[in-house]
Amino acid sequence: MFEVVIVGSGPTSLYTIAALLDRPAGLSITVLEREEMSGTGMPFRPEETDSVLLANIASIEVPPICESLLDWITGLPDAVLSHLGISEDDLHERHFFPRILLGAYLRSQLGRLADLAEERGHRLHIYNSAPVVDVARVAGGYTVTALKEGELLSFSARSVVLATGHVWPEDDPEHGYYGSPWPSVKLHAIPATDIGILGSSLSGIDAALSIACAHGRFEEGGSRYVPGPEAEGLHITLMSRKGLLPEADFWCDLPYLPLEYATPERIEALQQRPEGYDTEDLFDLLREEITANDPEYAAAIDLPSLTLEHFADAYFAPRMGKDQFALAAANLEEVERNVNKRTTVPWRYAILRMHETLAPLLPGMSGHERQRFKTYLAPVFIDNYAAVPPQTIRRLLALARTGSLSVVSVEDDCEVLPPTGKEPTRLREEGGERRFDYFVDSRGQSTLPASALPFPTLLEQLQADPEAPLPVSPSFGLSGPDDTWRGLYCAGLPFVMHLFPFAQGITVSHEFGEVLAKGVDSDRRAHDELTDQAVA
Ligand SMILES: Cc1cc2nc3c(=O)[nH]c(=O)nc-3n(C[C@H](O)[C@H](O)[C@H](O)COP(=O)(O)OP(=O)(O)OC[C@H]3O[C@@H](n4cnc5c(N)ncnc54)[C@H](O)[C@@H]3O)c2cc1C
Repeated sequence: MFEVVIVGSGPTSLYTIAALLDRPAGLSITVLEREEMSGTGMPFRPEETDSVLLANIASIEVPPICESLLDWITGLPDAVLSHLGISEDDLHERHFFPRILLGAYLRSQLGRLADLAEERGHRLHIYNSAPVVDVARVAGGYTVTALKEGELLSFSARSVVLATGHVWPEDDPEHGYYGSPWPSVKLHAIPATDIGILGSSLSGIDAALSIACAHGRFEEGGSRYVPGPEAEGLHITLMSRKGLLPEADFWCDLPYLPLEYATPERIEALQQRPEGYDTEDLFDLLREEITANDPEYAAAIDLPSLTLEHFADAYFAPRMGKDQFALAAANLEEVERNVNKRTTVPWRYAILRMHETLAPLLPGMSGHERQRFKTYLAPVFIDNYAAVPPQTIRRLLALARTGSLSVVSVEDDCEVLPPTGKEPTRLREEGGERRFDYFVDSRGQSTLPASALPFPTLLEQLQADPEAPLPVSPSFGLSGPDDTWRGLYCAGLPFVMHLFPFAQGITVSHEFGEVLAKGVDSDRRAHDELTDQAVA
């Protein structure tokens, strides 16, 4: 059999396995998972995630693994659904289900994949509580070493997929400092006091809601926050450069309708251009697409005369410096109206579709151009697709009405000074210092350099510049200095975000899984050819 090892059992791993099982029989796939429970992925673990936190993806958008999320949820016992506050009316494809339910779905699908493997003549072995501590290139493939119950276990493989997902900085809870808000349940230990959360997007909001749940409860479908007896003194400040809250998920046609202007032919023509393409070219496509879909909006922000450098300013301007809760309430009303009428906001929908259309073009640009894209266009796309479920906005507004929440903007180059023992965490800006008894850094996953790869032998063999991003190819191949390696893939999020700035989300895991399986398949074919030649 052709031996494959997959490190990690999150969504990327699951979609890779699903795609591999579609290939001809004869794969022996070993999955090594660090945690006790495999299959859920990091953000969806039941014991680590508050049940109040919703997946920010409607069920229709989750690519089915063995069955669709909605079919799986519909088959759950009524008692389980009502325990999670899910009514029969919620059982539709546009609903945003609790994140822990998504985790349970993913886990169930891993079980289904194990059955499917057997049916289709493959093998799937899953090891839980087996952190991989090293990977080494050896003659004929790779050796992957995992720690299981105090023993080192070695696995040989011709193809290795590193699907290790998120990596978060350390916390210092003793001094009230959290380097990330994950797992969210750790935030329950924060008392009702002055709490600073850096980041006012998805992660920051989740952190605020987790803390709020530890000191009170949401009622009336999330429209009312009832503080508990210990909640006096609770004040959460959400901080970000723009001081903006995300908008609520808007209604749109799914699957996506084809774009008007950025057609597959135009994208292909760009890719084929001998002189290549740059961020300006992508901006031109975006500008044309928005104008074709929503001329009124294009005129309102004066899109025809905007340069790449000024587009984001014009996009964010209507929300800057305004009362964020008033804006959020108005936006929620608009979204609810549009959901009822099943109408979309054309310019938002154009931007949403464009981010998926343009994302595959990014690995084909130079590092400098990708940086320009990240600076000038990515903030718009991220703001657009990182919209949150309306229910989350409702809860946020309920919390704000109790006076326990504010949103502020901080300077671009503000500096976080971690606690010293004598001093709490401080946020230093030119205009002064903010001090917080408790501080949660919720800026999300950052790109990590090669030196952060936790596999020492591999790191040495790769001879990569430790300070630079890991030299991963657009199809996730990882090769040493002589560039002749095959069979090693890295799709760990912080190591590929320099190539794929939108690399977060279950739909991305699905796309990654397809590409990874293709790579493994080509390794297998190359190996079969060599074997045939040797026999001949
Ligand atoms: C808090 C949060 C909420 C999110 N919510 C959503 C959402 O609602 N909807 C959505 O579409 N996306 C969401 N995302 C995006 C999320 O990144 C992806 O959906 C998905 O989790 C990525 O899958 P993954 O398998 O690449 O990584 P992960 O989910 O991080 O899984 C990686 C797995 O690898 C294991 N692992 C790591 N290192 C080792 C090792 N050395 N040995 C063995 N195992 C190892 C980990 O334990 C983990 O199980 C969220 C992200 C965050 C941070």
